[in-house]
Amino acid sequence: MKVLVSNDDGIFSPGILALALAMSEIADEVAMVAPDVEQSASGHAITVRHPLRYTATKLENLPDNVKAYRVDGTPADCVVLGVHNAFRPDVVVSGINLGSNLGYDITHSGTVAAAMEGTTMGIPSVAFSLRTGESELNFSHAASFAKQLIPEVAKRGLPARTFLNVNFPVGKPKDVRLARQSTHSWEDSVIKREDPNGQDYYWIAGKPTGSDEPDSDYIAVSQGYACITPLHLDMTHSSFFANLADYLE
Ligand code: MN
Repeated sequence: MKVLVSNDDGIFSPGILALALAMSEIADEVAMVAPDVEQSASGHAITVRHPLRYTATKLENLPDNVKAYRVDGTPADCVVLGVHNAFRPDVVVSGINLGSNLGYDITHSGTVAAAMEGTTMGIPSVAFSLRTGESELNFSHAASFAKQLIPEVAKRGLPARTFLNVNFPVGKPKDVRLARQSTHSWEDSVIKREDPNGQDYYWIAGKPTGSDEPDSDYIAVSQGYACITPLHLDMTHSSFFANLADYLE
């Protein structure tokens, strides 16, 4: 099995190292291909207006079956270049992100976008994220779950245009739940400040809205469960076609 590992926190993140090491135990070959600097919330952007560098990167204590490359681009760029330059993998995995990707986070997440890019290329893909809390980051639960899940994904495949979004809670998960995407979002809080030249500038710095929807990703992770959400690239709202036709009459 060949696995391509990417993320949006960058090639030097402890989260991608934990995931790549886990994959090295179950795969013949692992290619880590990740941004050279953090690209969180970069979404599914690809770089088409300037050239990209794909640079072999020395990381300490990597097993022989893992090679690392950094790209001066987005997570989606990394998947495109990794598939082109390293190999066509059996599975693309992304993460382990420092911070959960729940509800509408999915639409901004570079971690999830790397899995989306793999899916658009017809490769089964899975994104992993870990909620960050007060306690020290512990990737071990998500990493050992990835070792269980990824061989199954490689063996069974996933339905067309479908990928998996996996989130882990702070600490040891009580169990793993199957969960829907929630409507969790961020309250639109924009902070306005003034630069040394007297010009205004802004930080988008929202607070999480959370969600109380039962069976949702947000509830699962908040209650201490890991969760998996199957996502689909076809965002067509099919049941709305009938009403939409009325708009045109
Ligand atoms: Mn991130």
